[in-house]
Amino acid sequence: MEMVPTNQIRNFGIIAHIDHGKSTLADRLLELTGCKSSSVRGTSTGGKDSITGADMSAINAMVSTASPPTLDTLPVERERGITVKAQAATMFYRPRQEDPPYMLNLIDTPGHVDFTNEVSRSLTAIQGVLLVVDAVAGVQAQTMAHYWRAREHGLKAIIPILNKIDLPQADPQAAALLLEQHLGLRMPPLLVSAKTGAGVPAVLSAIIEHIPPPTVVADAAVQAIVIDCWFEEFRGVICLVHMRAGHLRKGDQLRSHGNGTRVQGRQWNVEEVGILQPAMIITPHLQAGQVGWLQCGMRQTTDVLIGDTLCAADNDQVMGGPSGRINSLPARLKPTVFAGCFPVTREQHETTAQAIQKLLLNDSSVSSERIISTALGPGWRLGFLGSLHMDVFRQRLEQEFGVEVILTAPTVSYEVAYKDEPPTQWHPISCAEEYPDERRLGRVRAFREPYVRASIIVPDSMIGPMLSLCSGARCLDSDIQPLLEAGDRVKLSVILPLVEIIGDFNDRLLSISAGYASFDYEPIEGRSVELVKVAIRLNGDLVDVLSMVQPKVRADSVARQLVGRLVKLLPRQQFPVAIQALIGGKVIARETLPALRKDVIAKCVRKERREGWGEVR
Ligand code: GDP
Ligand code: MG
Repeated sequence: MEMVPTNQIRNFGIIAHIDHGKSTLADRLLELTGCKSSSVRGTSTGGKDSITGADMSAINAMVSTASPPTLDTLPVERERGITVKAQAATMFYRPRQEDPPYMLNLIDTPGHVDFTNEVSRSLTAIQGVLLVVDAVAGVQAQTMAHYWRAREHGLKAIIPILNKIDLPQADPQAAALLLEQHLGLRMPPLLVSAKTGAGVPAVLSAIIEHIPPPTVVADAAVQAIVIDCWFEEFRGVICLVHMRAGHLRKGDQLRSHGNGTRVQGRQWNVEEVGILQPAMIITPHLQAGQVGWLQCGMRQTTDVLIGDTLCAADNDQVMGGPSGRINSLPARLKPTVFAGCFPVTREQHETTAQAIQKLLLNDSSVSSERIISTALGPGWRLGFLGSLHMDVFRQRLEQEFGVEVILTAPTVSYEVAYKDEPPTQWHPISCAEEYPDERRLGRVRAFREPYVRASIIVPDSMIGPMLSLCSGARCLDSDIQPLLEAGDRVKLSVILPLVEIIGDFNDRLLSISAGYASFDYEPIEGRSVELVKVAIRLNGDLVDVLSMVQPKVRADSVARQLVGRLVKLLPRQQFPVAIQALIGGKVIARETLPALRKDVIAKCVRKERREGWGEVR
């Protein structure tokens, strides 16, 4: 593989409202450029598909066509039909046979707010996006949310695409007008059917024409920013990097400039480099501007973190010495939703620990801390960016590592300040054990709970139901503004406690608005609250993992719901089990799980019918 001049490299992403055809379009692009993959990431053939020295068109052609190409490679993504991991694919494309080949690096990014970290670090590696809009449904709320997010990241090259023009109901003219009016996009949209492939070649030409090549530091030493990493059984840690500068090949020595908690300046020997199509293909080198993977002898999941910069080992002055750190990626969002995580049996602790470590490597936005529960033994307190994020993490543990875990109900991190301490000192309460005990409760000066500023974009006809949904969620302040560019749509800004939106808030929002509302939020300063601890007792024994901290105003209803759920979920015993919820020692909800009882009479009746006793007598 020869070097591709930087001005022939294009790094781009695809953004769209859910179901507008992002994955289908990505598939067509991969097909058009001959990239079909037989293996997905994580199950690659361990480097046997080496094509060192091969010509570029051969690279594209050689990858087998056994499975349909798709960038949603994780089982959880295929099952839920959502993208949760950014996924890269490199394509080579010659506009005409006699033209030199272009290298197109597509980074597919998730759209849900819980995976914003994935998006923001991907956006640092691309210079433009394809904005896909369904020609039947038109511009929708998520279209706008994604559009503005791309603009906020400074991306100017935004190529509008109207998809599904094969459908008889498609109205490309009306949709094009909406795009122009709502988003002020002056470029006429490309008309495409990702299903039939019509118009897709024009997308490739538009990428080359409208998206600028990456800017790279010419002739500099290697600087590779780790935008993703994962663990492969036989190869160890694989890093997906965005090459900011330099030229990287097998045998190069790299130094990792990570955070202060790991060994600084440790040297790594590059064993293999390559591209994703999306299967791992080995190439002779990675060049500045490109996105590709590298394997460099990292065996521990703690050897690298997403966001680290790998630099040429002998290039200290650029880095400010071996202990220097380059802040290469935008600051990571802090976890907001917490849950206890335990192995199903204590014997599975070690395998669970290893699986969690490997998954944490691939998902750096999850925080983890060891804990011990009296009922469930040693486990972890995990922090997530939202409840969907938490659900996806559990499912990935199961599907990719075969490990089942017990996750406690999600909660947020509250804070407490004491009278005899400086007023600025706040202690976190992210689980029931951290709630002040009897002795300290009298010294509490204040509790604080986390809040968010949420923006909801909806058609103005739906504003009434939206407002009542928000007021049910303890909304503090609301403001409605028409979106000038968005016709009948309005933006509702509300201040809500975080704990109110980590449950089914988003599902309710979508069902009320028939999927038409988009919802986004950012954390803001916490506010004071009255907190209580809800303890759960089973037959008089306290169960620590079921206990929780709640704002007093919602504690009663949450406790009743939990007791109601437990009575349906818990297996019956030979004896009745009393399930109680208590606040400050007072029982506020109670249910009894009835005992298992053999239904002796029912058996007699069956026997009687079967043997016809009734007629005899
Ligand atoms: P994503 O959520 O944006 O990734 O959307 P998908 O690519 O998963 O597509 C959603 C649905 O729309 C799928 O059932 C596709 O088969 C369908 N679809 C995508 N593109 C087209 C198209 O051009 N024409 C038609 N008729 N259906 C399409
Ligand atoms: Mg999709």
